Amino acid sequence: MGRYIMALDQGTTSSRCILFDKKGNIISKSSKEYEQIYPKEGWVEHNPMEIWSSQLGVAIEAMAMVNVPADDIEAIGITNQRETTIIWDKKTGKPVYNAIVWQCRRTADSVEKIMHDDNMADTIKKKTGLIPDAYFSATKIAWILDNVDGAREKAENGELAFGTVDTWLIWNLTKGKVHATDYTNAARTMLFNIHTLEWDKELLEYFNIPENMLPQVKPSSCIYGETDKSVFGSSIIIAGAAGDQQSALFGQCCFNPGEVKNTYGTGCFLLMNTGNNPIYSDNGLLTTLAAGSTKDKPEYALEGSVFVAGAVVQWLRDELRMIKDAASTKEYAMKVENTAGVYIVPAFSGLGAPYWNPYARGTVVGLTRGTKKEHFIRAALESIAYQADDVIRAMEKSADIKLSGLKVDGGASANEFLMQFQSDITGESVIRPSCIETTALGAAYLAGLATGYWKDKDEIKKNWRLGAEYDAHMSPDERRKLLKNWKHAVNSALFWAEA
Ligand code: ADP
Repeated sequence: MGRYIMALDQGTTSSRCILFDKKGNIISKSSKEYEQIYPKEGWVEHNPMEIWSSQLGVAIEAMAMVNVPADDIEAIGITNQRETTIIWDKKTGKPVYNAIVWQCRRTADSVEKIMHDDNMADTIKKKTGLIPDAYFSATKIAWILDNVDGAREKAENGELAFGTVDTWLIWNLTKGKVHATDYTNAARTMLFNIHTLEWDKELLEYFNIPENMLPQVKPSSCIYGETDKSVFGSSIIIAGAAGDQQSALFGQCCFNPGEVKNTYGTGCFLLMNTGNNPIYSDNGLLTTLAAGSTKDKPEYALEGSVFVAGAVVQWLRDELRMIKDAASTKEYAMKVENTAGVYIVPAFSGLGAPYWNPYARGTVVGLTRGTKKEHFIRAALESIAYQADDVIRAMEKSADIKLSGLKVDGGASANEFLMQFQSDITGESVIRPSCIETTALGAAYLAGLATGYWKDKDEIKKNWRLGAEYDAHMSPDERRKLLKNWKHAVNSALFWAEA
């Protein structure tokens, strides 16, 4: 048995690799940011070859830094940015187009058409648990087939393969031997029936997507194959795959119905395990498969997806050039008592849950002559917490529960100001584990459970250790006032969409 599990965490802004030991400790970690490509307003792409090369690079670096050879790695677990769509030639392994990233809005118009088709939005929601949106893979696949020269013909001849990023990595790691995905990633394509756990023929026909280009779908925790010897020297078993948010839910040990986690990464994603019952929401939440699903026993989660969370901090850094690094936002925010009435709604790529408006755009309200950079930065951080709070309220309504304590993780959960404000505005304790790399940890757990490295979920649960807890101190009056203003600001962003 190898001593470590390797988690490959292919995120939206960076590719990461972490080696974990049995106690869930990080033994080695390597990450690399890669290029975001914005060919047009609202379009977002990645180069699939850079996704692969950066991911392979960090995997080798993580091993080399601690001198761990491939033989010492029990298994690989993969977790990835979801929905992002790659299509490649099965023979050459070459992508026919860049990866169309989940944030990309280029297919907003085709989604508009779905909304006008009799009952189609309803059918999609019933079958896939999703609210039709450009966010999911289906319209992105159709776009590539319709817009890349020769692609549709090749797809119809069975020459092309589609995959989300997990599938793309598995294909490259096995040198084209395995074309597979897991239930959680399949559930985000808007083509997968989350009740029968099969690709849905009616939806494939509706979106005009040939079934032969789709990967085989497997449980998140199972043997997918092994890496080609040329990749790491010796072959390593690939034994886990899950979309990043479901992986984080697993990594936070939210194994039971009612358990909730919130991940603050590029976007912000709140997921609640709802057990073997899919819960449908009238409040803008998605129903999706959880990583514990097996063919006979699907396991579901209710999800609130916010598109821009940590990305608003990147925007302050890269576009506005107000800060040097993400961590410094905390000091700026704490230099002022409040935002002096400034609210930022970072609807850069429309608004996700619970509003679902692809045309909303970023809005800043409440500026005065006295507005300072500190106020602006504080308002950006607060916007992350307000958006999460909107989703928490929607989740409480949909699942008819009252949240007690919010488990958090992801890059921006390191920000103490943000965590305290989240607790204050939501009126709940915010609980951060000692390891905030729960997305990667979840993938490691899924892989290690499949090979017997970990005996069962109980053994894994013992690894969960508290890092920090934040309790609410804001008065209910203050909270009400701030939330009311926030609603006004959101309405301005939505008004812009209609204008
Ligand atoms: P992803 O997996 O989506 O790439 P991560 O979990 O790595 O995201 O988190 C990165 C995001 O978190 C970035 O958008 C970054 O701006 C933000 N971030 C990282 N550290 C901080 C911090 N200390 N304060 C606020 N935001 C942060």
